[in-house]
Amino acid sequence: MEFLGQHAIGKFLQDDALKLSSDAKKAKKNDPEVIDGTLGAFYYDDGTFCTHKIVKEVFNKLGDQDIYSYSTVDGGKDFQNAAFNHMFRAYRSYIEQTMAIKCIATPGGTGALVSSCFSTLDPGQTLLVPTPCWGPYFGIAKHRNINTETFFMFDNDKFNIKEFKEKANKIIEKQNKLVFFLNDPCNNPTGYTMTDDEMLELIEYLNDTKVPCVLIYDCAYMDMAAEGIKKTREKLKHFTKANENVIICLCLSYSKTYFIYGQRLGAQIIIGKDKKAVEDLYNAGCYLARNTWSNCNHGMISLVTTVDKDINLRLALDEELSVVWKSLKARSEIFLKEAKEVGLYTYPYSGGFFVSIPCKNNKFICDMLKQDYKVYLLPVSGVVRVAICSLNEKDCYGLAKKIKDTMDRYENFEI
Ligand code: PLP
Repeated sequence: MEFLGQHAIGKFLQDDALKLSSDAKKAKKNDPEVIDGTLGAFYYDDGTFCTHKIVKEVFNKLGDQDIYSYSTVDGGKDFQNAAFNHMFRAYRSYIEQTMAIKCIATPGGTGALVSSCFSTLDPGQTLLVPTPCWGPYFGIAKHRNINTETFFMFDNDKFNIKEFKEKANKIIEKQNKLVFFLNDPCNNPTGYTMTDDEMLELIEYLNDTKVPCVLIYDCAYMDMAAEGIKKTREKLKHFTKANENVIICLCLSYSKTYFIYGQRLGAQIIIGKDKKAVEDLYNAGCYLARNTWSNCNHGMISLVTTVDKDINLRLALDEELSVVWKSLKARSEIFLKEAKEVGLYTYPYSGGFFVSIPCKNNKFICDMLKQDYKVYLLPVSGVVRVAICSLNEKDCYGLAKKIKDTMDRYENFEI
């Protein structure tokens, strides 16, 4: 007897990062020598996991009505204001001068990615995805029977605009529309950040296609960038160069910025020159939200709107975030310096939670790192991913050599 609907047959979570990371956490609890570089959550150098002080302070003062009542489907006006302010900072009015703009609260950045992809593609159509990439990109598409095509992200150490265009052209030929994910800045898993010129060239290409193009801009790690908050926002100005045939869905993850991972809040911010198209996408997003997750975590919505309305709270959050990205910078510098010394190639890293090493038999190498050195790393998308966010500086010393030695030792091993 088959109880599953046709669309659900064969769907199961395999090698899920959350599960693998929980195994690593258990191993570390039993053996403090374990090095756990699996999950995308920030740990301070003393090994503690905690949210920001400002988050606790504000949350603890919220009333029951602010936390436990239902929120509206899109999060409400104050939330939308907070999301726009957070996303664009000083450049908000610059963006709003030329672009229509709408916003929907979502359960994390994941919800924003799902909403953007589902509302713009039909089952059987194709989503363009970079590789290497965050694993759930494929699941998000497959879940709705949307196909995926990939482009390799790098041309030497630069963004691979050539392959992007080739793959995009093929998709456009077939479906007369282009929808794609782009994870920038501080890409997961590589840490790559696109340059201004690369972004401008990409937008110029989208304009030239003349067909509907949807850039789903996954900026989950934007507040972890070593170049700081101002620079990441400055780059968003380039989106105003997009013509009427381009819509940009910016997927904000409060999980990462506010350290509220399990509390589930994000935003789908839709911008474009075609006001009606932006409104249509907003309406479709609200419909999807109401009939999927209904509404988002009201306590977290109240938290971010309270912070938004108080400049001192915003400054305090920025201060706490600067400790985080400075710490990531210090850890990455240790790892990358040693990687260079031992000849371990990594994809170009600019900032953020992860550094990646291309590796064909990545799953096997990760198993051997566990066995030989008690080092837990994640095999994703053709790479060994080092989550420097969850390591302390001490763990970073000597790690590149352990990875290099393991890769050399098992290079010719037939699995
Ligand atoms: N995008 C990328 C690249 C991520 O790594 C993550 C989380 O790990 C997300 C989006 C979404 O995170 P969340 O749904 O927790 O906001």
